[in-house]
Amino acid sequence: MTLKCVSCGSCGFPMEKPEDFALGDPSQPYCRYCTDRAGALLPYEDVLETNARHYVETQGVNPEAAKAMAAALLASMPAWRDRPHA
Ligand SMILES: [Zn+2]
Repeated sequence: MTLKCVSCGSCGFPMEKPEDFALGDPSQPYCRYCTDRAGALLPYEDVLETNARHYVETQGVNPEAAKAMAAALLASMPAWRDRPHA
């Protein structure tokens, strides 16, 4: 079994190096951006915020649009897609 094409189950971030994973551990299902220092998945609002900020910083979209983009992305992720939210 290889680790190629592993992406974060929360935000879809492609995790290629051990340090991309929570706790630097390639067996973790989530990336370091979506987890706290103990390796636990952060609350939805925090992940949404982090992803929205990423769109603002990398693509220059306004914060409102970025949040909508992030919400759409997270809605398709294993960590969040069963979560009941608008
Ligand atoms: Zn992530």
